[in-house]
Amino acid sequence: MVLIEILGGEGEIGGNKILLEHKGTRIFLDFGMSFKQNGLFFSEFLNPRKCSGLGDLFEFGLLPDMEGIYREDYLAHMGRLPEERSVDAVFLSHAHADHAQYIHFLRWDIPVYCTGASKIILGCLQDTGSNTFSDLIDVCEAFRFYTNRNGGLSRVDRKKEDYIHKRDLCVMEENKKISIGSIEVEMVPVDHSLPGACGFIIYTDEGNIVYTGDIRFHGLNGHLSRRFVEKARDARPKWMLCEGTRIDSDHRDSEAEVQKKISELISRSEGMVFVEHPIRDIDRTNSILNAAKENGRHFTIPLKLAHLVESLGPHCPFCLDDVKILAPRKKWGLISKTGMAQEQVDQDYAKWERDYIYRPNSITCEDLRGSPAGYVVSMSMWEIGQLADIKPAGALWIKSSCEPFCEEMELDEARKMNWLEHFGIGHENAHASGHASGEELREMIRDIRPEILIPVHTERVDMFEDLCRHIKNAD
Ligand SMILES: [Zn+2]
Ligand SMILES: [Zn+2]
Repeated sequence: MVLIEILGGEGEIGGNKILLEHKGTRIFLDFGMSFKQNGLFFSEFLNPRKCSGLGDLFEFGLLPDMEGIYREDYLAHMGRLPEERSVDAVFLSHAHADHAQYIHFLRWDIPVYCTGASKIILGCLQDTGSNTFSDLIDVCEAFRFYTNRNGGLSRVDRKKEDYIHKRDLCVMEENKKISIGSIEVEMVPVDHSLPGACGFIIYTDEGNIVYTGDIRFHGLNGHLSRRFVEKARDARPKWMLCEGTRIDSDHRDSEAEVQKKISELISRSEGMVFVEHPIRDIDRTNSILNAAKENGRHFTIPLKLAHLVESLGPHCPFCLDDVKILAPRKKWGLISKTGMAQEQVDQDYAKWERDYIYRPNSITCEDLRGSPAGYVVSMSMWEIGQLADIKPAGALWIKSSCEPFCEEMELDEARKMNWLEHFGIGHENAHASGHASGEELREMIRDIRPEILIPVHTERVDMFEDLCRHIKNAD
């Protein structure tokens, strides 16, 4: 018997945690954070407390209280006895937080299978993240003491290598099935708003399962999604776990159109152009870079994105030398003072940031101010404070990201508009979703023709009912 248990991602967008069980083999498809459930109880400034281990996450339904899957250090801190591992592996469709974030809480001896690009992104998230729950690549034991040089007790931190455990992150190759107990798993790359996204085909002797992950057809890699559909169809799946973020929207988006629109907006603008975009959407970053180039402008990106681009290497369609890196003023702001020793300037930055502020293509806000029409600047609410250094005149802000979908984002949006109004900056939109439209989803389901359709990652399960009926009638 094949058991499919949806422990997150049912009737909501994200938080996917899907448990598959067959003849004693148990695997998870994704282990993400539910933004919706988290938002009911927590905010940017009110988080589940680390001191309660997993307690707060169980209390508010953010994690399932299951035996044999969680980190021993957290369990011990909660007074729970060590548990036997009960899951064989986690298969990660992509590195967005709603699919990957809660890997932090998993035992470090559970192998995590993902694509090469996903592994790199997880590494960047761990290096540069501000989140306390980001032990994605390796785990630093929490709540542990060691005996220090004075014979006293000190708390373990990341400097104590003996307490760091590497996760077993296994990179999957195309056309190479992974055998885990009684099942086989094949990774098939798909198009999504993040490099390294994939779907899975899971083979068992009692029927095959297809999982779309997050999927779209209108990005730079639309052909990958079409190939996924073909492979999924050929597997003649019994079950299909299908994402349905936009099942209720029939607007066919296009990444190419976004680039065209951004290019047009830049061409009409005489001042500086700021573009707000999802930082890890490398397709979008590439579209903006192309639009900037078409207009003879430089594109500047923030440090975090610079780190991601360089880490991705061949997984990124452009290289770091193709863009400028904006080194912001931080802490004491010494980067803009003349005659400062590098040692002093460095102290303003995190270790990983220091590698990017002295590159030949690194620039500062002063450089931008001197040549406003020469640049397109990647900017978000994280960096918006720099507008006070740039003081742009006649500038334009292009919002190239999704509309706010929670109260916190709405407040941020309102605050952003105040900043733009303050500096007299115009506002335009140019965006395409990371998800397939309703029509494309229906087409995909009709092509793959599963026996049983299981919608996930959607608030509109009701809109799948007709499709389920259609599949049944076709038999
Ligand atoms: Zn998602
Ligand atoms: Zn996603």
